Amino acid sequence: MSQEQVSPPTITNEDIHRIADDAFTGRNVCLVTGGGSGIGRATALAAAGNGLTVAITDIDETGLEETVARGEELGLEGEIVPIVGDLTVDDDIERIVAEAADLGDLKYLANVAGMQHIDSIEEFPMETYDRLHRIMLRAPIYLSKLCMPHFRDTQNGQGCVGNMASVHAHYVTSDKVAYNVSKFGLRGLTQSIAAEGDGKIRSFSVSTGYVKTPLVTAQLEDTAEQRGISVQEVIEDVMVGQSRVKEMMEPIDVGNLFVLGFSDLGRHLDGGDLLFDGGMTLTYE
Ligand code: NAD
Repeated sequence: MSQEQVSPPTITNEDIHRIADDAFTGRNVCLVTGGGSGIGRATALAAAGNGLTVAITDIDETGLEETVARGEELGLEGEIVPIVGDLTVDDDIERIVAEAADLGDLKYLANVAGMQHIDSIEEFPMETYDRLHRIMLRAPIYLSKLCMPHFRDTQNGQGCVGNMASVHAHYVTSDKVAYNVSKFGLRGLTQSIAAEGDGKIRSFSVSTGYVKTPLVTAQLEDTAEQRGISVQEVIEDVMVGQSRVKEMMEPIDVGNLFVLGFSDLGRHLDGGDLLFDGGMTLTYE
């Protein structure tokens, strides 16, 4: 497997799974963070492909425009509306939810935005820890807090929060302490929403191994340097080495899982985690 083969693929209409669900209409809004790239973009396209109105937010305005353009190229049923914002800023978080709620009945939230930083605990810069924590844990909590009243305000009072976790929400690798802590925390948020949602407001997390996105391609060099191995060895040994399924997931595979979790098929999924890791965490050689 080469560096080229881990690059993010282009999403086609056939890649999007359609699920029959009466709630998947343009009246209902799905807010997706990190919608300008990778898994967030794929989740947005999958939700729009299922007929939902999708509010995408990201700090990257160009990325958002590209997602909207791809949705239009594919002629997706649901509209995709970009909202630029920085998830480290509370005013932005409040504006993002208000603007998303103006589009219709806000019913779904996908917390996907993220970043990575590779350093040992002893070397880890605390300002980077704080930034990562704000984007990947505090923002999902604040967004959930602000979205839940909108869910309750809809006709049937139902809504759902999907959180993008990781295999790093189950076990950890070294030199990713901030990432590991935030992903474990997201599972706590997921279960807390389930505990307070009384089955009407559900929550779930999605845990995957490595997915072909810019976040992964960007850490190839750093991981190689940190471990003293080649980029090729990072791909083959670290990224797919422990997985029994020797094929990296694509962003749309994850986007489809979010739609499944939001749908009626997922109505008993509440506080649970969709561990789609190709056997990575529950087996060993
Ligand atoms: P990505 O880099 O393609 O996308 C992340 C997006 O988050 C970017 O568009 C970025 O601009 C946005 N973002 C970063 N900081 C922000 C901020 N302050 N405000 C608003 N937006 C901000 O990465 P991805 O691989 O699609 O990752 C998405 C999520 O999936 C992350 O939470 C990541 O931890 C998780 N994840 C990824 C993988 C993988 O292998 N790619 C595996 C498991 C989990």
